[in-house]
Amino acid sequence: MPTHVPGPRIAVVGGGIGGLAAAAFLHRAGLTATVHEQAPALAEVGAGLVVAPNAVRLLRRLGVMPHFTRQAVPLDWGWEFRRWADGSVLSVEKLSGVCERLYGERTYVIHRADLLDTVKAAVPGDWIRLGARCTAVEPRPDGALLHFADGSRAEADIVIGADGVHSVVRNTLAQPAPPEYSGICAFRTIVPAHSAPDFALRPAQTLWLGPGRHFVHYPIAGGSAVNVVAFAPAGDYTDESWSATATIEEFHAEFAGWDRRVTDLITAGGIPGRWALLDRAPLRHWSRGRITLLGDAAHPMFPFFAQGAAQSIEDAATLARCLAESVDDPEQALKRYESARIERTTRLQQVSHARRDINHLPDGPEQQARDATLAGSDPLVNNGWIYGHDAEEALIS
Ligand code: FAD
Repeated sequence: MPTHVPGPRIAVVGGGIGGLAAAAFLHRAGLTATVHEQAPALAEVGAGLVVAPNAVRLLRRLGVMPHFTRQAVPLDWGWEFRRWADGSVLSVEKLSGVCERLYGERTYVIHRADLLDTVKAAVPGDWIRLGARCTAVEPRPDGALLHFADGSRAEADIVIGADGVHSVVRNTLAQPAPPEYSGICAFRTIVPAHSAPDFALRPAQTLWLGPGRHFVHYPIAGGSAVNVVAFAPAGDYTDESWSATATIEEFHAEFAGWDRRVTDLITAGGIPGRWALLDRAPLRHWSRGRITLLGDAAHPMFPFFAQGAAQSIEDAATLARCLAESVDDPEQALKRYESARIERTTRLQQVSHARRDINHLPDGPEQQARDATLAGSDPLVNNGWIYGHDAEEALIS
């Protein structure tokens, strides 16, 4: 158990995966914090996440692996790319054994709610304040004053904005501007295992690539369901609420003519969720004085490298260590945190952005060249800079 000494009053705004990870790592470092979450209960939307070794090694240090592995599915089969029209395999990479050998951890897939629960298990319950929607953060010479929608206020010595892509805290640090619509929307659905075809129950992440669209699925919830997420042009659709839905017919219309295995999964899934992906250019700075950002508030990214939540966990680990090692000089700690993180997260924002065009090429010579490259590529090794990274060790070297 960490020993807690009276330290700075740290306010974390947002109790998503990033905010709770920040609280968990602060707790491990012997500091204390309050998490202010706007929702009346901690919850995550019904969808899945890939958790790569760079995040798994940090979860292990939080001591939550028994909790995590109860629901997470190790991607032992690996990942595979298939062609939209006939399902022919463009590339396949087995992960079992290889991932551990290269990076010391496996890659998993998990329901978002299960990951949130896992991280929450490492946070003292009385640190979390629910129904607390922050409306403004007023910088003060030695901290900040937080204002909430119910009229309450809280003083803090340090503020961590983990309040997602619409961050209110970000408005204190950067020119307030709404995120832009990316022109892409995501359909998501969860198929119960008993309705899913066998091939979708393999511990594999399968990505079907087609013109202007791609379709992804993998098992979650201990193998009791299949997570489906598919990306298509958004047209004039701009609703990015996690609770917005589409009809099965709209989902089918986007993937008409695709391999039967894709369309069967759409049929099996029930009413799909649909939301527009948002976009923001990378920030040049995200800390000022004693206020900083973390996760999507700092660096939202397209989900095409499946790294957004993982990066928020990395941020949390780095930030907690910087604060613990420089507890008397929080401004210096926040500067050190930002400079340790910004280059890496900016690069991930950029490569995730570029992946959109690559995944969505129309059939033709460029698509054939992409498929030939995929056939000879080794994403696990090529992306070693992502999966091999240790967010705590990187501070020391
Ligand atoms: P959020 O999850 O947005 O959490 C913000 C929290 O702050 C919420 O709880 C919110 O209620 C609260 N909040 C907001 N405003 C306020 C306020 N004013 N006051 C108080 N509380 C507030 N990442 C991966 O690592 N792997 C994947 O496979 C993956 N797949 C994805 C697939 C899709 C389709 C999408 C869209 C994203 C995916 N991501 C993935 C990215 C990942 O979902 C995000 O990067 C991650 O959830 C960010 O976490 P966060 O805690 O920073 O922000």
